[in-house]
Amino acid sequence: MGVSRSFPEKGLPAADVQDRIKRYREGGADWHGGRVPIFVFHADDEVLSVSKDAFIAFFSENAQGLAAFPAVGEMQDEVTAAALALLNAPEDGDAILTSGGTESIFIAVQCARDHARAAGRGTANANIVMPWSGHPAFDKAARYLDLQIRRAPIAADFTADVDALAALVDEDTVMIVASAPSFPHGVFDPIADIGRLAQSRDVWMHVDACVGGYLAPFARRLGYPVPDFDFRIPAVHSISADLHKYGFAAKPASTVLFRDKQLSRHALFEFDAWPRGHYRSRCFTGSRPAGAVASAWAVLNYLGAEGYMRHARTIMETRDALMVGIESIPGLHVQGNPALGLISFGSDTMDIHAVGDELEERGWFVPRNAVPAGIQFMTMPVHARVIDDYLADLAEAARAAGRGSKARSTAQVIY
Ligand SMILES: *Cc1c(COP(=O)(O)O)cnc(C)c1O
Repeated sequence: MGVSRSFPEKGLPAADVQDRIKRYREGGADWHGGRVPIFVFHADDEVLSVSKDAFIAFFSENAQGLAAFPAVGEMQDEVTAAALALLNAPEDGDAILTSGGTESIFIAVQCARDHARAAGRGTANANIVMPWSGHPAFDKAARYLDLQIRRAPIAADFTADVDALAALVDEDTVMIVASAPSFPHGVFDPIADIGRLAQSRDVWMHVDACVGGYLAPFARRLGYPVPDFDFRIPAVHSISADLHKYGFAAKPASTVLFRDKQLSRHALFEFDAWPRGHYRSRCFTGSRPAGAVASAWAVLNYLGAEGYMRHARTIMETRDALMVGIESIPGLHVQGNPALGLISFGSDTMDIHAVGDELEERGWFVPRNAVPAGIQFMTMPVHARVIDDYLADLAEAARAAGRGSKARSTAQVIY
């Protein structure tokens, strides 16, 4: 790929390295200026500096080495306890701090499979039933864990179709997945109905609240109509919720929560048949950054529910302005009924990817949906001050695309 295959013979002076790093950074999209509606969840500079300071303070420590760094374990316990409280876990609930949504989902899937095995069920043909809109992290976990994924068609409003899910569930189903909300369109699946399906078939239900878990409870308290999605729904066995998304913690940090310790016990890996003796871990990774744990602890305690509510208000008001603005542009419409800051919009009259190309030319990073074609936006507090510019550029982009320009790019492959 144009990179010469050579190992640098001599080291560079630190100043030169810094210089190069600085230049590398300048090449990326401008998330700090609000030009990136995905990937970086920026609240404001205060939160960022609290997060960074904490990360840097624990930069070298290793979260696998809790015997050496007990404070990292304490911070981890405090973060997971807060997560359990936020998502209404029962007294016996349990949570694991992980390195991202993919790992949280991996652990939930592995626990569900091993839960079925522990109940004496064969898992040679085990499957997971999920809506078509679910995140590929489940497919990744299924590939590693030798499970099959069955994706059910979704309804016209982009939410899971419960009957379609039901039709795919059989005696080999070890998990049913619902999203709160879905990554492509930001809509909540009918969690309570899917819960009834899971209960009637006696199947583990996982709620993927990776993107919504640390925003939904606060948006709800502000009075936004966010449906029940957490452990208040009795069928819910496990939930994934990413701290490094609307939790505003540094990457990589997520949580996976379990209704009780009988379910989470399968996550424990213990081993002693090697020279070093006892090895113990509850997640997929071994060594991992204590900085991410410290950042999560710091941001959570810096903001508190009050701070998260304040940011949730900005996120939701910006989202409202965005939706009103999109609907007022001829030819554009919001897809489905998004519940939080994440939305997607499309068009019946023009090539939405041509609109996306025009937006890119105006300096925006444009996340895209493939089927149906759409453009995504995840509002964050940083977007409050640029949303009017975005809408003005979007109106121009739509006019330009409406004049018959053709899309140069199809959907990117993201995530
Ligand atoms: C982000 C996300 C994931 C995957 O999380 P990573 O942190 O990227 O590994 C899974 N599901 C949903 C709904 C997400 O938004």
